[in-house]
Amino acid sequence: MSGKLINGKEIGGKIRETIQQEVNDLKSEGITPGLAVILVGDDSASHTYVANKQKACSELGIYSRLIQFEAEISEDTLLSQIEQLNTDSAIDGILVQLPLPKHINEQKIIDAISPYKDVDGFHPINVGKMLIGEPSFQPCTPSGIMKLLEYSNVDVAGKHAVVVGRSNIVGIPMGQLLLKKDATVTYCHSKTQDLSAITKQADILVVATGRAKLIGKEDVKDGAVVIDVGMNRDIHGKLCGDVDFDAVFEKVSAITPVPGGVGPMTITMLLYNTLQSAKKKSSRQPLV
Ligand code: NDP
Repeated sequence: MSGKLINGKEIGGKIRETIQQEVNDLKSEGITPGLAVILVGDDSASHTYVANKQKACSELGIYSRLIQFEAEISEDTLLSQIEQLNTDSAIDGILVQLPLPKHINEQKIIDAISPYKDVDGFHPINVGKMLIGEPSFQPCTPSGIMKLLEYSNVDVAGKHAVVVGRSNIVGIPMGQLLLKKDATVTYCHSKTQDLSAITKQADILVVATGRAKLIGKEDVKDGAVVIDVGMNRDIHGKLCGDVDFDAVFEKVSAITPVPGGVGPMTITMLLYNTLQSAKKKSSRQPLV
């Protein structure tokens, strides 16, 4: 770790180098890892995220296929597209960019993805396996954060980790991964009373609320490690996190910036999961 800053770009870059090496090795055996990305509608943020994921794939030699649909697409059409990808041998990972238009049931779409190709780690089978500690695809943002902590030599065992936010894609799995590494975990959410009293107790504070600068100087303990997942725009339109970075910087022992902290790790772990899936290609079982 260079000083206090937990640099996701740098750590992600190191991990991507090892992924690239493994991709090259697999290619020499005639296997090219492949990721299919389904994008529905014209949400500009989703388009940017998808473009970044595709760029990262191409940099590492991973095949990526973008499948785009109009916002009006029917749920059935989307489901049959996923069925095709489930049995497509060129595809090791399937990612459906969320959110989907309101008329499509997101959970139904996630449930349709083969758990063997669920590189986002959102399928109930992978979620369940993660909870009971069986090998599974882990959701990219929380597993990327675990890598950030590991590469920054942050000892998690026995520490009080407070996770603010309880979404299925970030907050809930984050707490579970920290628990698996023997942290004492507290979850907070929008109904939590006296949030500050709890965040102030955190040795490791992970904030994933989507509320710009929710956490200020008075809300963190001296020497805490702060992981800011949020991606928001402040009143001047500048990208900012859920933590008031400038205000807390002096007080904490380590912190992720926004941008350049958690974001690059999320994509890195998507590449990692796609590689893991490709490695298991030959032993992949048919859907039951
Ligand atoms: P969701 O909106 O799904 O969940 C937000 C969570 O924060 C909810 O559990 C909510 O509580 C809680 N919350 C909201 N307001 C408060 C508050 N005032 N006090 C305490 N808790 C609060 O968001 P996501 O988990 O999907 O994403 C969170 C943030 O992380 C967003 O800014 C998103 O853009 C960013 N993100 C960044 C990624 C990256 O790669 N950097 C990846 C994924 C997300 P309740 O459950 O009670 O409603």
